[in-house]
Amino acid sequence: MNDSNQPKALDVLIIGAGFAGLYQLYRARKAGLTARVLEAGDDVGGTWYWNRYPGARCDVESLDYSFSFDKDLEQEWTWSERYATQPEILRYICHVADRFDLRRDIQLRTRVTRAVFDEQAKRWTVETRAGESSGAQFLVLATGCLSIAQAPDFKGLSSFAGKWYHSADWPKEGVDFTGKRVGLIGTGSSGVQMAPLIAEQAEHLTVFQRTANFSVPAQNEPLDDQAVRDAKASYPERRARGRETSNGICLEANDQSALDVSDEERLREFEFRWRGAGGGFRMLRAFNDLLINEKSNEHAANFVRSKIRAIVQDPRTAELLCPKGDLPFGTKRLCVDSGYYETFNRPNVTLVDVKAAPIEEVTLRGLRTSEGEHELDVLVFATGFDAMTGALRAIDIRGVGGVALREKWEHGPRTYLGISSAGFPNMFIIAGPGSPSVLSNMVHSIEEHVDWVTRLILHARGSSRSLVAAGIQAENEWVHHVNEVADRTLYPRGNSWYVGANIPGKPRVFMPYVGGVPAYRNILNDVANDGYRGFALS
Ligand code: NAP
Repeated sequence: MNDSNQPKALDVLIIGAGFAGLYQLYRARKAGLTARVLEAGDDVGGTWYWNRYPGARCDVESLDYSFSFDKDLEQEWTWSERYATQPEILRYICHVADRFDLRRDIQLRTRVTRAVFDEQAKRWTVETRAGESSGAQFLVLATGCLSIAQAPDFKGLSSFAGKWYHSADWPKEGVDFTGKRVGLIGTGSSGVQMAPLIAEQAEHLTVFQRTANFSVPAQNEPLDDQAVRDAKASYPERRARGRETSNGICLEANDQSALDVSDEERLREFEFRWRGAGGGFRMLRAFNDLLINEKSNEHAANFVRSKIRAIVQDPRTAELLCPKGDLPFGTKRLCVDSGYYETFNRPNVTLVDVKAAPIEEVTLRGLRTSEGEHELDVLVFATGFDAMTGALRAIDIRGVGGVALREKWEHGPRTYLGISSAGFPNMFIIAGPGSPSVLSNMVHSIEEHVDWVTRLILHARGSSRSLVAAGIQAENEWVHHVNEVADRTLYPRGNSWYVGANIPGKPRVFMPYVGGVPAYRNILNDVANDGYRGFALS
């Protein structure tokens, strides 16, 4: 940031220092561009900086959820578990920042509030909460898909005598639940991960569940020396295989319909994917039509329900934990857990159905539902995020003619390829709405976007063009395509954050691109090979 409040002649300004911002900085520098990152947190890490709640770990295996751009980095970093914990992922991100000397171009503790495009100068100027400003020819929004926490506005929260926390803004020093009566609100991925750990420490844990979610066991385990050696020796093949799967993760897919096999065979496949060698998102790949065929989907849903009933000893609690109604399996983000359902067999854990008896208010002593008061010392919100668009809408972004992105996206996000939005030239979104993003291995999709955007910038520069603008027709066609592909699946049916259903008043639009990582890559390649079709370079 400059001292005189005058915009600096920077090529690329990047907002956010998570996986995306760090890699964009690295790639820009390699390309000979001057770049700088502004980051709100007081260290790098993005989502892995903020989400420090007990049990936080990635639901994609570490060997996939890691950078592939540097072969030496792959060899020198050793993951200790199949699914890395938040502290280990944060250490990895810090290692990347240090190893590639990225920190000298990262300004921490800097919350960007506004970004304005100057049509004359063809440059962006951003303003920060502290009143500083900075400018660059290109603006890259590496602001993350799950970075604006959503804490429900419960009546009476300020009167609560105990402490409360949100999963996405967890204190660095941790929280000691020993001897406490804890209320956990939310049973998505965050709540499902933290419940077992809180239960081990707290005097009592009450889980307030509004909608039962499908969760499958991670089957997490330490990676022993041999597993690490094998993984390091086979990284190129693993990455290559991952890139050819629909979500960019190296998982075995079964290319059969769930309806084309016998009951025994179907059960055997589901069991294989639930147990030791399986685990996690492998369940979604048990058959090729789980997310497009209602009947196939119901087989998977019934299998998971049968597991819940077998694990949870109290039949009433088991029934409450079984997802029901119009929630096809996997259409809300599938939770990946370590001992979630087993937690409800502990004598110090209670499940409360807040769909039947809604939360009315937080009181001095706890939380009141329509059925009565629960006395609590600590409240934990695992209530999710204003996903995919929240972080972009949190910045007052003004494009051509002073048009606000917030207004343009009033009825849902509109992008060309999930990368650019018409009327906002020289601005790129990494893993934005309209790209595979959250439906894919984020690190893979981030690398792909950053590489593509950097090549586009170099292409523009190489042909002496200073303006890169997505065309409105290309954008309209892309938005249509994204919806059309989503509508061929069961995804839009789930009341999930994928469609903005968790935020009151948010337009219901299926935001990520469900066409799959390989198909999307082909489209990106075609667009580039066709002279960046759909973009005007001037
Ligand atoms: P989430 O999936 O949106 O879950 C939020 C939970 O809070 C839901 O159970 C929701 O109930 C409940 N809730 C919200 N407002 C409520 C209210 N007023 N009263 C009662 N309950 C309320 O959020 P999340 O668990 O933080 O996960 C978000 C995403 O982050 C995940 O889907 C995943 O992509 C990512 N994540 C990943 C990992 C991982 O890698 N393992 C871990 C954590 C998060 P309803 O369902 O009824 O709305």
